[in-house]
Amino acid sequence: MTLRTLESLGDLAGKRVFVRCDFNVPLSDGAITDDGRVRAALPTLTALLDAGAKVITSSHLGRPKGEPDPQFSLAPVATRLSELLDRPVAFATDTVGSSAAETVDALEDGQIAVLENLRFNAGETSKDAAERRAFAERIAAFADAMVSDGFGVVHRKQASVYELAELLPSAAGSLVAHEVGVLNGLLEAPESPYTVVLGGSKVSDKLGVIDSLLPRVDKLLIGGGMVFTFLAAQGHAIGKSLVEADQLDTARAYIARAAERGVELILPTDIVVASGFSADAEHEVAPADAFEGTRFGADGMGLDIGPDSARAFADAIRGSRTVFWNGPMGVFEFPAFADGTRAVAQALTEVDGLSVVGGGDSAAAARTLGFADDRFGHVSTGGGASLEFLEGKKLPGLEVLGWQ
Ligand code: ADP
Ligand code: MG
Repeated sequence: MTLRTLESLGDLAGKRVFVRCDFNVPLSDGAITDDGRVRAALPTLTALLDAGAKVITSSHLGRPKGEPDPQFSLAPVATRLSELLDRPVAFATDTVGSSAAETVDALEDGQIAVLENLRFNAGETSKDAAERRAFAERIAAFADAMVSDGFGVVHRKQASVYELAELLPSAAGSLVAHEVGVLNGLLEAPESPYTVVLGGSKVSDKLGVIDSLLPRVDKLLIGGGMVFTFLAAQGHAIGKSLVEADQLDTARAYIARAAERGVELILPTDIVVASGFSADAEHEVAPADAFEGTRFGADGMGLDIGPDSARAFADAIRGSRTVFWNGPMGVFEFPAFADGTRAVAQALTEVDGLSVVGGGDSAAAARTLGFADDRFGHVSTGGGASLEFLEGKKLPGLEVLGWQ
């Protein structure tokens, strides 16, 4: 049940080490708008450089179609990395071609190079294992060892994540090891009271995690777009709010199971109802069971949990020793509907114990609302990966590193 660590690779001085990072940062007009993922890679990269390794790193960025696409170049990442490491970072304009070969050849001990976007090559994400392996072999030709430190992709069976780790002596970097340690703690022996807060847009995305966590938690708080499926399942009118009509029975089953298991299921008692889905929509607060009583009637759309609910959610969170939060409570991208998410984020920063923010939109929401990562116990760098881990799924990129 343990991941191979960097130490298992032995003395790396003078060795060429390929580090699979997750540099999939948001870009706007070619500029990085949130460098959190680049910063998250620094501890492992620094440790390897200090050990005298020749460090070769790369990542995917965006969704190029298996061929070079300049808008998804890792060049801005190499520049940012150089600033953060305060040392030169070489950059290869291809991933496994002549530029990469020359760049790697020129590396001295304790120097670092970034190879171009892994997904500029069809082999990286190919469904055909032989194609993935062939691409992984070309990366492996550049390196003596491989370190897997892109937690955001460990749930993917992709060439640089899986096959490459089979081909070379491989180990988890400190980011992956830390993520796995924290998330595993949420499955095994979390301190109680243990509260899980779920939001975001779709119930169907969160079914697996509800299944896995329901038997373990004391309180389950539900907000966001997914809550309207629960409110509809209880027979409440929800106007034009987001709803998954095919999940009503599932929601009813969860309500029943929570009651059987003695899990306190807390749903919002009030809702911020808007005239429509826009930043400047008119809005008012309504009781969750009298939703259509607003001036918008059956046209109203729930875009956030109400102030009473936000207070109740915050109290439940602050009174817990372990909290996991995934999914915003409302459409936080519109300031008028960000209060519920802000209250939940604020309460997580006040937990006397372990608070964990799942990746994806929740981590983005916390940062957008001005909560720095270090105010939480842990902010995962992987959205899908953290959810799949908590669902108890087997993640190929971890199994290949020794995790059972
Ligand atoms: P995560 O990535 O954290 O798992 P999701 O991707 O499931 O979260 O959902 C995030 C999105 O859910 C956000 O873009 C947010 O605007 C949206 N959302 C939250 N509450 C509502 C709501 N009441 N109605 C519509 N969309 C919502
Ligand atoms: Mg999302």
